[in-house]
Amino acid sequence: MPFSHLGLSDKVLAAVAAAGYTSPTPIQDQAIPQVLARRDVLGIAQTGTGKTAAFVLPMLTMLEKGRARARMPRTLILEPTRELAAQVQESFSKYGVNHRLNVALLIGGVSFDNQDTKLTRGVDVLIATPGRLLDHSERGGLLLTGVELLVIDEADRMLDMGFIPDIERICKLVPFTRQTLFFTATMPPEIQRIASQFLHNPVRVEVSRPATTVAATAQSLVKSGREPHQKREVLRELIRSAEGLKNAIIFCNRKRDVATLYHSLQRHRFSVIALHGDMDQSARTAALDQFRKGEISLLVASDVAARGLDIPDVSHVFNFDVPHHPDDYVHRIGRTGRAGRSGTAITIVTAADHKAVAAIEKLIGQPITWRQSEVPHDIDAEEPVRAGALRSPSRGGKSSRGGKSSRGPHSHDQRGHGQRDHDQRDHDQRDHGQREKAPAPNVTPLQGARRRPPAPPREPDRDDVQTHLPAFLLRPIRAKA
Ligand code: AMP
Repeated sequence: MPFSHLGLSDKVLAAVAAAGYTSPTPIQDQAIPQVLARRDVLGIAQTGTGKTAAFVLPMLTMLEKGRARARMPRTLILEPTRELAAQVQESFSKYGVNHRLNVALLIGGVSFDNQDTKLTRGVDVLIATPGRLLDHSERGGLLLTGVELLVIDEADRMLDMGFIPDIERICKLVPFTRQTLFFTATMPPEIQRIASQFLHNPVRVEVSRPATTVAATAQSLVKSGREPHQKREVLRELIRSAEGLKNAIIFCNRKRDVATLYHSLQRHRFSVIALHGDMDQSARTAALDQFRKGEISLLVASDVAARGLDIPDVSHVFNFDVPHHPDDYVHRIGRTGRAGRSGTAITIVTAADHKAVAAIEKLIGQPITWRQSEVPHDIDAEEPVRAGALRSPSRGGKSSRGGKSSRGPHSHDQRGHGQRDHDQRDHDQRDHGQREKAPAPNVTPLQGARRRPPAPPREPDRDDVQTHLPAFLLRPIRAKA
């Protein structure tokens, strides 16, 4: 069906044409008429399917009638992360060029007072992360009793981040008679439970089977030793030998590993930037901008930080760690192979990861092929070592260790979901009570090139810093005065 048949207003259709969209995506085709008919919608769709426009376009159409009152937003969109919230705000700017609507963003890490001032002026669309929204509400600066439409986006990620109790509280603050749009990429039982709690007689719109991976993405696994330095060596080799690598997102399970890997890649002179919850908002925004514009080729990120980011043409995704939850694998590799482009997703696997890999293969309903690593790996790995897969370590005295004895009780591989969840809840949850104080960043991703220290302590993976890299993978060097 063309856009013109969906029931959208002329102003919205003009904005859609200006955006260059010729036809609606399947989620837009199915969801937009239902939203305009004031039905509750349960949308099962991953990012990259056009789901943001599926709710933004009808909302703009509906908001053309009526006007906002002070401190009483007319519509509310809940997002799990600041970046997603900011992205939705950008969509309102893009599709709402012909509208004069007040859109406010309530996220942590930025000034509370500025947000408060905006609320006083009256808001048509409020886009918020749960913590900061509740902060405003508890301070009495926000009344949710005028909300006519509520969007709960990325519900499965909200669940992962422990936001469901907050969402339940927020749902009690908005009118029972509101319209609710609920989007999730997957439908685990807990999401089914909350969907039936929050939605009234919803229309179910599903655009792809939950947990399907993008067909245009070539997926493979590569074996590595268990030690972090061995994994870093494998990663560097993968980056250097990757075919058609334009840019890549590298995923770590925990934010502290993001920082370590980022520093290591920097030392090895890759053009790299980090994205995780301990960076303040301006550093995160700047990091993303640089990556989007192609000024930086590699982005090291945690699941939370990178969730749902719309970076249209990422050529490669590297999983530095196998994700603990198979769903995360689907989300991660969904960063590449978008919008009809082909993509490559490579996962580094240690001997401790085989169960997690089996769970991923079960979820996606297909085996993932193994590729050979040029880097030595554990001899106790379950996968048979293929001829040619091993080569001598590049430096005498460096060897792969079996690994088991070297791991402490809190080593990475042995951490359970509890730890992961704790790390994942990161900044957005800390918005509670933190008000305007942004956490001090513990990495400085935008720093210019550092001069290499004269006699650095030798880290196991520092040896091949001098290896030739394609120019675009080199981090920019600040010109000497
Ligand atoms: P989303 O799934 O909301 O993250 O959207 C993914 C990308 O698809 C965004 O970059 C949108 O600009 C783009 N997009 C949304 N709707 C359409 C459409 N109908 N035709 C082409 N691109 C679209």
